[in-house]
Amino acid sequence: MPVSVQAIPCLSDNYAWALQDAATGTTAICDPGEAGPIIAALEAMGGRCDLILLTHHHGDHVGGVEEVRARFGARVVGAKADAHRLPRLDAALAPGEKVVVGATEGVVIDTPGHTVGHIAFHFPEGHVLLCGDTLFSLGCGRLIEGDAGMMFRSLAALSALPDATLVCCGHEYTESNARFALTVEPENAALVARAAEAKAQRAAGKFTVPTTMAEEKATNPFVRAKDVARLAEIRSAKDNFR
Ligand SMILES: [Zn+2]
Repeated sequence: MPVSVQAIPCLSDNYAWALQDAATGTTAICDPGEAGPIIAALEAMGGRCDLILLTHHHGDHVGGVEEVRARFGARVVGAKADAHRLPRLDAALAPGEKVVVGATEGVVIDTPGHTVGHIAFHFPEGHVLLCGDTLFSLGCGRLIEGDAGMMFRSLAALSALPDATLVCCGHEYTESNARFALTVEPENAALVARAAEAKAQRAAGKFTVPTTMAEEKATNPFVRAKDVARLAEIRSAKDNFR
């Protein structure tokens, strides 16, 4: 494995993701929502942080940036389109641009919907997808700034990645997403099994992520929505679901 990935829980239900290139020890952190737990985890991984990757500007994804940057001297990269509302960027990236973590190369994918400037990072060699608040296990981000058409295209772009891709998302929402997903596709056997698995994982104090793209294609009603109208319909139903 050229690159390893590790979830670091922070705030109430956020995940930051640490990527480490095996060959060089180069380490990156995605979406450090708060500094304390992330600095502790990076210290345990070797005391290094070369790069901070940002998917979008929300406070629960960028709150720890300045402290992590100051502590490790990390470079900060994020979307060019959102440079005005992200922490100070050392590199402002456009969709299709490359990011490098040691010997491991990633690419920026444009994923608007949750916010209009949202991006994801895909590292093909390690099968790692850092997708922030665009795609969750069994769910997708709320349409805070974008519309259903944007989210549909963003999810389609992510679904086109290989089945083995690890979906490293920004929140531990799987169990509540499963309750809603089961109202959309109660007969989906893969979803029923996944919901039971997530429940057991949480009861045992385990993370339910990363999941895989194959799993999401089989179980996630938002990924499975066949057109924009259907995505809009279930997104709106989820917004009102309790
Ligand atoms: Zn967000």
